Amino acid sequence: MQNAGIVKWRKPITILFALFRLIPLVNDIIPLPESAAKLSESDFIKEHELAHRQMHHGILRNILKIIFLMLAVWCLVFLLSRCGFTILIALLWLHILSISFRIFFHHYCWNQEYDADLCAFKAVGKSKAKDAMRELLEKEQPFTQLFALLYREHPTAKARHQKLFK
Ligand SMILES: [Zn+2]
Repeated sequence: MQNAGIVKWRKPITILFALFRLIPLVNDIIPLPESAAKLSESDFIKEHELAHRQMHHGILRNILKIIFLMLAVWCLVFLLSRCGFTILIALLWLHILSISFRIFFHHYCWNQEYDADLCAFKAVGKSKAKDAMRELLEKEQPFTQLFALLYREHPTAKARHQKLFK
């Protein structure tokens, strides 16, 4: 009965989220959660997180973030001093410029995610990896690849699934 209710509302909710994503800046200020419901702590997820730690992914991401932050400060100073923009216009320009950095950063993160998925797959085996991916597919908010590239450090569950089981 409850499942029927969820299925009934799934489509209108998906359309509503899709409409929100069309409004510029909304996703930057209030990002949508990646999953509609909390994922269970499976062995696959534990191994995935362990792989991130072993390969120092968090540190590498933070180094990139610091580099981008320094670049952003330099850009902001340049736009304010050399171009004579007001702070609001300079921030909006910075926002547009940051799109290319974000795409690069997310692409970098995605490769880390695929590597961590592969390590977890090797550690827990195909069956558990399939179960974990199935849960991820069920609970993830529906995203397009383009949306994920702009806003998500994780690729879509569909892309992760394809990469792992191709
Ligand atoms: Zn991860």
